Amino acid sequence: MNPAARPGSDTSIAPPRALDADRVREQFPILRRQIGDRPLVYLDSAATTQKPQSVIDAVSRYYEEINSNVHRGVHRLSEEATNAYEGARKKIRTFINAKDWQEIVWVRGTTEGINLVAQSWGRSRLGKGDEVLLTTMEHHSNIVPWQILCEQTGATLRIAPIGDDGSLLLEEFEKVLSDRTRVVAVTHASNALGTVNPIREIVALAHAVGAVAVIDGAQATAHLPVDVRDLDCDFYAFSGHKMFGPTGIGALYAKREHLEAMPPWMGGGDMISMVTFRETHYSDPPFRFEAGTPNIAGAVGMGAAVDFITGLGIDAIGAHERGLLEHGTARLGEVEGLRLIGTAPHKSAVFSFVLEGIHPHDIGTILDRRGIAIRTGHHCAQPVMQRFRVPATARASVSVYNTRRDLDDLVEGLEEVNRFFR
Ligand code: PMP
Repeated sequence: MNPAARPGSDTSIAPPRALDADRVREQFPILRRQIGDRPLVYLDSAATTQKPQSVIDAVSRYYEEINSNVHRGVHRLSEEATNAYEGARKKIRTFINAKDWQEIVWVRGTTEGINLVAQSWGRSRLGKGDEVLLTTMEHHSNIVPWQILCEQTGATLRIAPIGDDGSLLLEEFEKVLSDRTRVVAVTHASNALGTVNPIREIVALAHAVGAVAVIDGAQATAHLPVDVRDLDCDFYAFSGHKMFGPTGIGALYAKREHLEAMPPWMGGGDMISMVTFRETHYSDPPFRFEAGTPNIAGAVGMGAAVDFITGLGIDAIGAHERGLLEHGTARLGEVEGLRLIGTAPHKSAVFSFVLEGIHPHDIGTILDRRGIAIRTGHHCAQPVMQRFRVPATARASVSVYNTRRDLDDLVEGLEEVNRFFR
């Protein structure tokens, strides 16, 4: 990522301290695994990141020492579980610089967060003639919930195109934007292309026509600083498992004024203040949106993941990954027949590529024999594949624990793929 592209970052401050990836690697037990007789080379962090020992320990400790249900108990364990769960919410608040903890709703992940916004915010507000504006590079999680909403309300989906390098075409975006636009839903960083979008600008454009801005942060929070107040977005959804935390937990940030005006999405325990068969009074946000026993251990683990990121420094992580992006882009350029899909000037360390005449699944299978884990397929972004007229791509994505050696191994593996098929 180009620092200039990172909304909320102050480029005038001193450069981040360099990160020692070998020491970071030691904190990830899974990286000691062998695949066959080869050490694991994990290049699939855009799908899910690996977990540091501190996160694993936080989850185990929760179950070993605290496990209990939250909010309702008067006994010691329940009080401790509630403190751990609510304490993690406060860590999330600080991490993304939300104004207060009531603006953080625990969800299962980005997908659930976006569905919550579509159904709770969108369903009662949208109607015929209204428009929801997305971009071509969205993940299915930021497409399908809006399609469902449009079917339910009669609103129309509009799509802003992307250029040949995978950048959002802002001028085209502005042309599709109008006073009919009620929602602009855009990814912060694309999982299929790596493109990092100018979110602050997009949010300002959305607000100028009276639309709300919903940001899919799944691919951003582990890689670049996110400051929701600086971005001024209305909603920001992200997943714990993509930022060193557990699966099945994520957070939805929403401006308090929105949450207060939104009806519950799911009903059940823990989201009410009073129930009779005649009527129910709901709790205040965020609890109104958290029906049922939550993923308490997951929240605690996501809090530990935030501590892990903060401990290393998000700027140091970004700088490390930019080094990998440069190295990987240069090395992959040496591979015969390789074409990168997604070469935007502002991109995260995602390498999506095709090898001429070779199916991505074959690439993935041969690399797996060398212990190298990459992802192949459409990456839940089929419109991106359609845009670039490819059925699928191979995708290597890096994180804080990757080194240049991993990318050199990838290149060696791809040379073997080429020898095998050519
Ligand atoms: N958006 C993007 C850009 C993603 O990469 C992903 C996960 N691949 C999602 C949304 C969905 O995240 P989750 O499956 O954790 O809900």
